[in-house]
Amino acid sequence: MTLPNRSSRLSGFHHQSPPDRLAAVAAFAGLDAATVGHLADFGNLDPHLADRLIENVIGTMNVPVGIATNLKVDGRDVLVPMATEESSVVAAVCNAARQCYDAGGIVTSMSGPLMIAQVQLVQVRDPHSARVKILEKREEVKAACDACDPVLVSLGGGFRDLEVRVLDTLGGSMVITHLIVDTRDAMGANAVNSMAERLAPHFEAWTGGKVYLRILSNLADRRVARARAVWPVEAIGGQEVRDGMISAYQFAEADPYRAATHNKGIMNGVSAVVLATGNDTRAVEAGAHAYAARGGRYTSLSRWEVTADGDLAGVLELPMAVGLIGGATKLHPTARACLAILGVGTAEELARVTAAVGLAQNFSALKALATTGIQKGHMALHAQNIALMAGAVGEEVDAVARALVARGEVRVDIAAEELGRLRGRRGE
Ligand code: NAD
Repeated sequence: MTLPNRSSRLSGFHHQSPPDRLAAVAAFAGLDAATVGHLADFGNLDPHLADRLIENVIGTMNVPVGIATNLKVDGRDVLVPMATEESSVVAAVCNAARQCYDAGGIVTSMSGPLMIAQVQLVQVRDPHSARVKILEKREEVKAACDACDPVLVSLGGGFRDLEVRVLDTLGGSMVITHLIVDTRDAMGANAVNSMAERLAPHFEAWTGGKVYLRILSNLADRRVARARAVWPVEAIGGQEVRDGMISAYQFAEADPYRAATHNKGIMNGVSAVVLATGNDTRAVEAGAHAYAARGGRYTSLSRWEVTADGDLAGVLELPMAVGLIGGATKLHPTARACLAILGVGTAEELARVTAAVGLAQNFSALKALATTGIQKGHMALHAQNIALMAGAVGEEVDAVARALVARGEVRVDIAAEELGRLRGRRGE
């Protein structure tokens, strides 16, 4: 389809209502009435709320929420909502959790809810003296930070520590200050960013330098969630399976190409819980991948080993800056519902369950890769997607998907052929 030459400079667009914006976009893109009608349906998210959450809203993007079953985390049975568009992700967690349930499930812990805000000082003549001058002002820094957020302080959070480094950069020496703040049940981005901005003029006055950036670090390495579990060797199919999984982990540990995919699998689980609870998937993902490279080489976020009893032990450790307050967590009704299903009372509990899901996800991916390969498990669900793409509706979807799997050819052209045959048999 060729469209006329159009301008993307839609004057006043951000002041318009979602329906008016949608009409403008429909005119721009030549959308048909059915597509406009589809976009106009906001589903279970109030259009007014959607319009407040982000800018220039025209609709919503619905992602399925599935429930991971069989999870026992720190002795408590939990049902975990996961929002993802990817097939097999939820099933993988259910399977992994079932295989360690009788052995006690997954044990978790957390380093604490500490976030880091960075303040960048440049043009400092004597950076090492400046560093010490800032450290000398610890009590003033603490008072200024805490004054920024009395609510946080009243809840037991607030300033905890100060770190200052002299960084050699392409632009010369920079003095980088870290404000370390306990953000309690908030992810804490706004909280620590405000503190960094409040402190900036003081740092300039104390050092004679110039402040540029004042922003949190997503490498939240003082907010690390940990999960560990033991899978009995007989529950996972024997020693060969176990050894294949260990070998798969060792491959990821040694090779960034493999580690990227290994960690992506972990994040399949983690990001799905983060999204379901209205938290910031990009913040958690950035933190995870930076943490995976903290030793100077990108590597596996998880560790796998054989216990003294010959069982398979897995450990996952990653930054988990999630909250129950702030952002969409409090505002989005689906996020609130997902938090109610989880039954978590603190951000730490949420972070720990999320890490447990990441570990379970990793277990299933390693097991599939080390045994039948990933595609077998994917195929049934993938075949359904392909059947849908070919135009199957209702009961046709399963019938076409089964035919694709039976033929061992999960392709949209084959799906169209099977759909035609099915409809032909029904005389359509
Ligand atoms: P927020 O500022 O909306 O809420 C946090 C505030 O709520 C606290 O500062 C405190 O004053 C108050 N509060 C009330 N009850 C609390 C409790 N029990 N525990 C802690 N605080 C409590 O939210 P936030 O967590 O500061 O910011 C999260 C948002 O910031 C997310 O939407 C994220 O996407 C966004 N963000 C992220 C980045 C980044 O990751 N780089 C940068 C900027 C903004």
